[in-house]
Amino acid sequence: MSALWDTHCHLTGYDRPTDVMAEAATAGVTIVAVSEDPGQYRMLRTRLGRRPGIVPALGMHPLHAASFTPADLARFLRLLPDAPWIGEIGLDLSPAGRPSRRAQLRIFEAILSDPRATALPLTIHSRGAELETIERLAQAGASRAILHWYTGPLRLLDQAVNAGLWFSVNPAMIASARAQRLLREIPPDRVLLETDGPFTRHNNKPSRPSDLPDLLPRLAALWSTDKNGARNQLNTNQTIFFSPPTTS
Ligand SMILES: [Zn+2]
Repeated sequence: MSALWDTHCHLTGYDRPTDVMAEAATAGVTIVAVSEDPGQYRMLRTRLGRRPGIVPALGMHPLHAASFTPADLARFLRLLPDAPWIGEIGLDLSPAGRPSRRAQLRIFEAILSDPRATALPLTIHSRGAELETIERLAQAGASRAILHWYTGPLRLLDQAVNAGLWFSVNPAMIASARAQRLLREIPPDRVLLETDGPFTRHNNKPSRPSDLPDLLPRLAALWSTDKNGARNQLNTNQTIFFSPPTTS
């Protein structure tokens, strides 16, 4: 059976990342280990990222935008040729992010204007800035961008789907009534999985990538199928997501 992918995990946020990695390997889960700045990416890649089942992602988290310098952005762009994934990047216009709006836009737009970045899989933060984020991803022609933990309005879903965007679903979304309403509207063939661990909870503990198989029955109920049907849908989605983008 092919692996399930946790497309957004803050591996460095756990006390014992190597335990998390070992459990994930046993559960058949591949981890995309996101970073919040280029320095963290380099550390991740060096210490953990060369092991099988771990894909380090190069990120600049929007909530740190105010503290990033032009040198940080230059460093990010320098590391691009080496990076297999991009994330976490994006926009956050929730009250926490609003003061750094301009800095966030500058960084996000600079990254999206680089075709080396938009050719890669991207895991994208969009809290409180869903429209701004979707529009920019559509303009940039990002072919493999995932809206991670989408919490925006229902009415923007069509626009995101038409832009070719994907959605990664985590345990917190599955547990929330509001997110369930959203999930019912997202086409099943655009869904991937994530934990956003350790920042979401599953069974009253911080989520771990090895929890992902527990989401299958819930997705199955949502999609009116059984566990195998949900698993097959996700396998198909992952295969399509990972097939090389077609150049037109
Ligand atoms: Zn995150």
